[in-house]
Amino acid sequence: MAVRVRFAPSPTGFLHIGGVRTALFNWLFARHENGEVLLRIENTDHSREVEEAVEQIRRSLVWLGLDWDGEVAFQLDRLERHQELARGLVAEGNAYEDDGAIRFRMPDEGTTAWDDVVRGRIEFPNEKLEDLVLLRSDGRPTYNFASPADDMDDGITHVVRGEDHVSNTPKQIRILEALGAALPAYAHLPNVLGEDGRKLSKRHGAVSVEEFRAQGYLPEALMNYLALLGWSLDEKTTVIPPEELVRTFSLERVGASAATFDYAKLAWLNGVYLRSLAPEAYADRLVAYLRETGFEGDEETIRAAAPLVQEKVPKLGEFASFAGFLFARSEPDAEGLDGGRPVLAAARDALAGLEPFTAEAVEGALREAAERLGLKPRQAFAPIRLAVTGSKVSPGLFESIALLGRDETLARLELSAGSEPA
Ligand code: GLU
Repeated sequence: MAVRVRFAPSPTGFLHIGGVRTALFNWLFARHENGEVLLRIENTDHSREVEEAVEQIRRSLVWLGLDWDGEVAFQLDRLERHQELARGLVAEGNAYEDDGAIRFRMPDEGTTAWDDVVRGRIEFPNEKLEDLVLLRSDGRPTYNFASPADDMDDGITHVVRGEDHVSNTPKQIRILEALGAALPAYAHLPNVLGEDGRKLSKRHGAVSVEEFRAQGYLPEALMNYLALLGWSLDEKTTVIPPEELVRTFSLERVGASAATFDYAKLAWLNGVYLRSLAPEAYADRLVAYLRETGFEGDEETIRAAAPLVQEKVPKLGEFASFAGFLFARSEPDAEGLDGGRPVLAAARDALAGLEPFTAEAVEGALREAAERLGLKPRQAFAPIRLAVTGSKVSPGLFESIALLGRDETLARLELSAGSEPA
C-alpha cells in the first residue's frame, strides 16, 4: 500500500520549529517511500479567520523546500462530514447526546494498545479514557474526533506527530475502530528541548522558521539540522544535504529520547553549507537575502565583497556588520586609534600614488610603510584596519582597501589621522 501521511498544524500563529521538524519527518518519509504528504489545517478550535497564520505556515514550508500533494485542506470545511459520522456513531450506540453535545462511549475495561514505530508498545487502560466530546453543542467537532475522521477519509497510512499527542492516540484508535476504519501506524516523535532541558521556546533563541530565515540561515542547512533532531543516519554523519536525507531517511532510525536544539551547531552547519557554495551561487544568494531584508547597498559592491565574507560569516545576516564599512563610513573608536596616528599618515602617503590599486600592491605598500616606521606588521595594521573599516574585525585588510578604492580609503585615513583631507 502506498504511503500517505499528513502534516496537520493548528493555525495558532507562526510555525514553531518543533512543528516544522514534524512536517519535515512526514515529508522525508513520504518522499523516501514515493508516497504522498498532505497539508491539513486543523482549525476546528479556531473559529476566527486564520488566514495570516495559514499564509505563514505555507511560506515557511515552501521556503524550507517542503512541498505537499494536492490542495491545502481546512478541517472546518468538512464540518458536515464530521456531523454525519457523529450521527452514525449515535445511531450505532457508540456515542450519545449529552447537553446538546455528542459524546463517544469509551470502553470501561480492557486496554487500548499500539506498536508505536518510534516508541514501541504503548498500552492505556481503558478505564482512564473519558467519554470524549465528538461534537460540541454548537455542532463543531473537537480535535480528537475531526483528526482521526480526516485520517480515515484521507486514507492516511502513518500518523507521524509529536510525542505530546501520545495520550490522544488511544482515544483516536477507539474512534477509528468504531468507525470501522483501518488503523494507521503511529510514530510519535521525541520532543525538541533547549539546552536547559525545557521545551524549546523564545527564551532559548529563534523558534520560528521566519526568524531563522531573517538571520540568514540557508533552508538546506536548517533542513539538515532539523533532520538530526531525533533521527540519525549512523550516529556520526552530520552534513547530509536534502537529497541525501530523502534517500536515507527511515522512521526506524528515529529515536525516542528528547532532542536538544543546539544553536551553535546549527550556525556551524550553516557555515559549512555557505562555504560549499560556488562563488557565483553564494553571491546570488547573498544579494537575494540582503534585498529580502531591506539592505540597500549597491549590488556590484555586494558581489565584489561576497568572496571576502564567504569564508568568514556563518550566517548571511552578519554581512552588514562585517562588510557594512564598504557601503557607509562609521566613526572608529578614538581610543583604538591612540598612538596609531603616525601610522595612518604613513599609510595615506604610501597609498596616495599607488598604481595599480590592487590588494597585492596595497599589501606591499603598507608593509613597507610599517617597516620604515620600525613597526611589526600587526602593530601597524590594527589602527589602519580600524580607521578604514571602523572595526577591529573585518574581511582581509588589503582586499578590503582595494575594494573600498583609493579615494574613500585616503579620506578615511585622513579623517582618523586628524589631518585635513588633501
Ligand atoms: N493539530 C495538531 C497540532 O498542531 C496535530 C495533530 C496531529 O498531527 O494529529 O499539534
